[in-house]
Amino acid sequence: MSQIDGLPPLREVIETHGLSARKALGQNFLLDLTLTARIARAAGDLANSDILEIGPGPGGLTRGLLAEGARRVLAIEKDERCIPALEEIAAAYPGRLEVICGDALAVDPMQRLTPPVRVAANLPYNIGTELLVRWLTPPEWPPFWTSLTLMFQREVAERIIARPGGKAYGRLALLAQWRCDVRVVLELPPQAFTPPPKVWSAVVHLTALPAPRHPADPAMLNKVVAAAFNQRRKMLRSALKSLSPQIEEHLNAVGIAPTERAEQVGLEAFCALARSLSAA
Ligand code: SAM
Repeated sequence: MSQIDGLPPLREVIETHGLSARKALGQNFLLDLTLTARIARAAGDLANSDILEIGPGPGGLTRGLLAEGARRVLAIEKDERCIPALEEIAAAYPGRLEVICGDALAVDPMQRLTPPVRVAANLPYNIGTELLVRWLTPPEWPPFWTSLTLMFQREVAERIIARPGGKAYGRLALLAQWRCDVRVVLELPPQAFTPPPKVWSAVVHLTALPAPRHPADPAMLNKVVAAAFNQRRKMLRSALKSLSPQIEEHLNAVGIAPTERAEQVGLEAFCALARSLSAA
């Protein structure tokens, strides 16, 4: 029995339920419940929030969240082999864990969540970025969540927190930092997982700001940033010329040299450029 909740250790759960890891589902499991409890604490105020967890697997992080006092956890898992193990956790925490067997990209969990909602997940690497971009680009802001606490491959985490001037800086950094506070709260070596992945991982905590840091139309900002970084080695007057025949004038008007490259331009300047293009 484990110390945090009296349930069997995760290694035993995996063996009992035959949960051999499947690469296609991005399965790298965390078996250390002290570690998952630590990740759970990084998610913030659990006692007064509903938690949406994507990809609970055998339930390591789920157990961490519940043991640390989460009001309610809604967990979406694609691999039906994991469901009986998750139902055992639900039975140990009556009324606090709901499990949906399905694809997180297709299931809409909103009806089953009561605000405030926090998202916590050790994401499958193959859909992690897609889910993050969805959560960062809802039709309305503030979004349905107050915070995201997400495990990524470390290289993705670096792209989320990147500042101008480096290779990691790009669309993901701008999307995230425009409307969130972002920080890395934990870095984990491959050996923390079973089976170990090839690279280090990192947990990123994103807190939704009540309003964007600088005004801009989201669709226009997205268009500008996508065009700028699709051709990141080109000067902006050339990378952005499809957006307006007067792109040089717009760049000059907001104080960006038309010869600059996307990598050198900060969030505030991209927002100013989006406003200038929208106004035209
Ligand atoms: N949370 C567990 C942990 O920390 O040990 C497992 C994390 S593992 C990196 C990713 C989990 O996401 C796996 O359990 C996998 O089956 C699940 N998964 C993969 N694709 C999914 C999808 N499209 N929707 C929901 N879950 C998915």
